[in-house]
Amino acid sequence: MNVLDELNQVSILQIAEDLGLDVKRHRMVCPFHEDDTPSLVLYPHTNSFYCFGCAKTGNGISLYSEIKKMDIKSTIQEMAVEYISDFQQNKNFTKKKIPTSNLFDVAEIRRIQAKEKPTEEIHSQIYESFRDFCLQQKSNELSQKALDYLKQRGFTEKTIKEFRLFAIKDYTEVTWYLKQRFSTLDLQESGLYNQRNNLIFYSHALIIPYYREGRIVYLQGRVIGKPPEGTNRYCFLNNQPLTLFNADVLKKTKTGETVYITEGAFDCMRLVQEGKTAVSLGTANIFKREWAKLFKRVNVVFYLDNDKAGHKAAEELEKIFTHFNISCTRKNLPESYKDVNEYYTGRLGSNEQLGMF
Ligand SMILES: [Zn+2]
Repeated sequence: MNVLDELNQVSILQIAEDLGLDVKRHRMVCPFHEDDTPSLVLYPHTNSFYCFGCAKTGNGISLYSEIKKMDIKSTIQEMAVEYISDFQQNKNFTKKKIPTSNLFDVAEIRRIQAKEKPTEEIHSQIYESFRDFCLQQKSNELSQKALDYLKQRGFTEKTIKEFRLFAIKDYTEVTWYLKQRFSTLDLQESGLYNQRNNLIFYSHALIIPYYREGRIVYLQGRVIGKPPEGTNRYCFLNNQPLTLFNADVLKKTKTGETVYITEGAFDCMRLVQEGKTAVSLGTANIFKREWAKLFKRVNVVFYLDNDKAGHKAAEELEKIFTHFNISCTRKNLPESYKDVNEYYTGRLGSNEQLGMF
């Protein structure tokens, strides 16, 4: 294990205590903004923090460096001495001559710290209550609109059911319902509610759940249809680590089988509908190195969006996978298509054109 890995294992609660910060029930008054209530929450399961007042976020190492006003390099050295018991005797750190640029690269730190930790049970309970409440409400105009939209994007009812997509039929009712069932702190920590204690999916009524072993571990909202000016198409949970979409499929794959990695969940769903095995990253900007291990036995094909971010991500991913000795190739979309789903819909026509509904 390298120094960063080890430091990322140090409990953020321990670090906060050692820094002399006054933490009660994982909360403290935020040192980064004028704060008179304890707005900063420490998350021991991910060793990270988030301030609900100023949105400052980070991990144990960044907390240490911010409070001590030290640069990241000195922070890591000081923390190594303080927290790694055999660090003085273990000369590996200096002996190996790990290039400084590698060791202290911020992106690298972020990648390493973003370790896969199980989603807290209470969060899954919140996400599932949210889904169950939405599903048991009677269909209405909004849910019909969501369904029509998905069909127009080329999805069959079978696919929609298989991935258990759902729609918020009444924003006010589901907001109220969850507030009755769960505490404000839990709702905010789950990332489903913002600091004003409102459900985050106000404009994003179409919900894409991410499952792991049958439990919902992450949620993503989408605007139904074209987003209005100034609104993003997608809305992700607040301050929750992104996880792979459809990752459970990797358990069922055979050695040497081809697995597509796409950017959007819709692209992944579409490939599955076409009989392929696929997972999606959710966005081109995030890939956790730990994920690479999940693909050890398979043949990876990157099938990302036809834009700058997609091309760049594919290049980066190829490097990471090659580093882990995982066989991978890249598949490019024809010029005029921006993503996988658009390609299939454009090529095959929507379901309506096929007369399937
Ligand atoms: Zn703050």
